[in-house]
Amino acid sequence: MYNIINFNEEELKKWMKENGEQPFRSKQVINWIYKGITSFDEMKNVSSKTQENLANNFYIGTPTIVRKLVSTIDGTIKYLMKLHDGNIIECVLMKYKHGNSICISSQVGCRMGCTFCASTIGGRVRNLDSGEMLGQIIAVSKDINERISNVVMMGSGEPLDNYDNVLKFLEEVGKEYGLNIGARHITLSTCGIVPEILELSEKGLQITLAISLHASNDEIRKKSMPIANKYTIKEVIEACKQYICKTKRRVTFEYALIEGLNDEKEHAEELATLLKGMLCHVNLIPINEVKESGYKKPDKKRIDSFKSILEKNKIETTVRREMGADINAACGQLRRDYVNE
Ligand code: SF4
Repeated sequence: MYNIINFNEEELKKWMKENGEQPFRSKQVINWIYKGITSFDEMKNVSSKTQENLANNFYIGTPTIVRKLVSTIDGTIKYLMKLHDGNIIECVLMKYKHGNSICISSQVGCRMGCTFCASTIGGRVRNLDSGEMLGQIIAVSKDINERISNVVMMGSGEPLDNYDNVLKFLEEVGKEYGLNIGARHITLSTCGIVPEILELSEKGLQITLAISLHASNDEIRKKSMPIANKYTIKEVIEACKQYICKTKRRVTFEYALIEGLNDEKEHAEELATLLKGMLCHVNLIPINEVKESGYKKPDKKRIDSFKSILEKNKIETTVRREMGADINAACGQLRRDYVNE
């Protein structure tokens, strides 16, 4: 059995042809899938014989919403979703003036081991396929009955640890007959897997690359991000320069501020030296506290002082606006609580 969302129009057309169906029906089938149907018998303009043939060979891999937390402050919605095999993932919808933005997961769990992240506590369970990533957007769009115009790949999982499926997702998400979300409206966030950043840069995609840097030197980075034992900050920055050169896109550096670990003035200065002159932007993220890690968020004064040092060095810097403060489970925490129940 295959997840039908993994088949694009061409691939489904081919399957229809080889399996005694009329190829033109593939368009109708795909339209229904992107409307968020959960069963083949909901496809009103498709014969019951074709519905049966499809049901015997495919399943619809759109995740099912099992829990929803809605912020009364800004309308942010955190979703817990069940996949076809019973695994649970999280995704988040954020409502902005410029449109709806969704943060999706790319793996069940994660094996990267960042100490500030709840998604990694149980390790990586499995990769999501491209259809399961598209499916999160389809399910949420159906739930809110609105179009989603921006995607951030920043939920559970390391996208570049699931490179082939993520690449297929990036190709499919822009298709006009499907979700029609352009590359410039997509951000891929990675902890910095250098060979895949270099490979991705060769594709010349117009997506935004975001690097979870979170430290200004390797010594500190190694304390919270095991990937730093494999690739140095210097190697990550060099790969980003290559990415900028190939795509002409500005790279974002994510920096989670953790009190007493990476939020001192000298860290800001060190970071400024690393990034000076690059086509980049720093996004400071006052950390979400994870029960298991004991990390604390710095106060506003420390955050502002860190930001002003970067700005003095002409590095564009923002502090991530807290969305859904009243439903503020850290990334991966909601899933852990649900699975533990
Ligand atoms: S921060 Fe990202 S890469 Fe690190 S463990 Fe969490 S999901 Fe994985």
